[in-house]
Amino acid sequence: QEINQLTPDQAAEQAADLRTKLKNWATEYYTYDAPSVEDSVYDQAYEQLVALETAFPQIVTADSPTQEVGDTTLPEFTKVPHDVPMLSLGDVFSVAELRNFTHRLVEQGVKPEFNCELKIDGLAISLRYENGKLVQGSTRGNGQIGEDITANLKTIKSIPHQLNKPVTVEVRGECYMPKESFVKLNQQRQTDGLAPFANPRNAAAGSLRQLDSKVTSSRNLSSFMYNVADYDDLEANTQSELLAELKALGFNINENYQVAANFAEINEYVDKYQVQRDDLPYGIDGIVIKVNDLASQLQLGNTVKVPRWAIAYKFPPEEAETVVRDIEWTV
Ligand code: NAD
Repeated sequence: QEINQLTPDQAAEQAADLRTKLKNWATEYYTYDAPSVEDSVYDQAYEQLVALETAFPQIVTADSPTQEVGDTTLPEFTKVPHDVPMLSLGDVFSVAELRNFTHRLVEQGVKPEFNCELKIDGLAISLRYENGKLVQGSTRGNGQIGEDITANLKTIKSIPHQLNKPVTVEVRGECYMPKESFVKLNQQRQTDGLAPFANPRNAAAGSLRQLDSKVTSSRNLSSFMYNVADYDDLEANTQSELLAELKALGFNINENYQVAANFAEINEYVDKYQVQRDDLPYGIDGIVIKVNDLASQLQLGNTVKVPRWAIAYKFPPEEAETVVRDIEWTV
């Protein structure tokens, strides 16, 4: 039945069913790092829920997956409150929607300059440095409260313990498992009679949320940082300059970023990485387009769940992977 033929009660009932489904999948994905369905299945159900809630705004609930970041925290870890929330990203699945997003911003008066970045298929982390020294590392959790995984993050070679300047800064980015490490890990797990991880993202999350940092250390994780939450000494005026500044401080950044001055250039970037995707040594599931000017980012601000100055273009799903349930995090 078409959405515009539904009564509000029917819409509310369908939305409730979708929310239950999405929440169950989110628990498998975020809490157990073991999804039972493909991301595209989750994304389609999510889109249906968005369509229902857009047509019937009165049926939106505060705890709808459209209104909050989905991750959870495990009781085994100390909680870390995020003074600056760690958000998700809005997503689009077609180039036409991507064009609409950038056009709307330009129509609002935003300078047409966008930083195009790869959407790394890992999990978000936050790193806090005091006078240049790493003091705390955490997961995103529900966006407001994450998990303290400092000891585990310290085992990752690309995460500096000491910055090149004695600054106090909170930096955000992605922790990921390189494809090669992922293949080796799953081979080993099969030899050991353990269920393989469904994808590098879940393998990275499972490896990072370990109580024994020796396990994390053995998993060859890496990181790309791309954002600052709190930094008084920031010199950059744009997102692309920010990446260069993070690199100068000693962080690993993804070098495949590009400033685009019009939509044709964004489109070229999307095409380029859709083709090169398989050749990269790490997984990407799309492209992130960000307003380059940092002052405009601040001015545009965020919704409860996503920044208004960025959007993710998700690639069409790759051929189906075998998804196997895995409760590795408990050991
Ligand atoms: P998301 O992963 O789609 O996008 C937001 C995240 O992208 C950010 O938090 C950040 O960690 C990451 N990111 C990577 N590169 C980035 C860059 N260059 N700049 C900024 N951010 C970057 O959103 P989400 O809220 O973390 O997760 C929702 C998605 O997770 C769904 O769309 C679905 O694909 C998947 N999911 C799947 C299941 C399942 O059962 N298969 C369940 C829940 C969620």
